[in-house]
Amino acid sequence: MTDCVFCKIVAKQISATNVHEDELTLAFMDIGQVNPGHVLVALKAHAENLYALDETQAAAVARCSARVARAIRDAFSPAGLSVYQANGEPAGQTVFHYHVHLLPRHAGDGMELTWPVKNPPREKLEAYAARIRARLPR
Ligand SMILES: [Zn+2]
Repeated sequence: MTDCVFCKIVAKQISATNVHEDELTLAFMDIGQVNPGHVLVALKAHAENLYALDETQAAAVARCSARVARAIRDAFSPAGLSVYQANGEPAGQTVFHYHVHLLPRHAGDGMELTWPVKNPPREKLEAYAARIRARLPR
């Protein structure tokens, strides 16, 4: 896409601080750096979100993410690492080109994700699962 900032980074029309590159993915430093070592793993091809990925692309992002996460761990020794990926504006997506945040974490680092659990009864869980199972590819 011509107006997509991540497509421009992939095409080297906008400079980024790259960490790793393979045939399908590019990993580069998030300019915001919530904590030192905060990396984005993006597909090179434009895909708006998780729903748009084919299985080869999904596997490539997972492989690159695991590889770079281990390097972040070894380089920064964070107490933890959050993997964050958002689909759609209500979920917090701000760049509409599929990417995964690899975010080193430390106690009290100010990063928050509110998690308002609902704890529905088991029957509800079964009903939710059935709705999803009915739509999975066979
Ligand atoms: Zn793009």
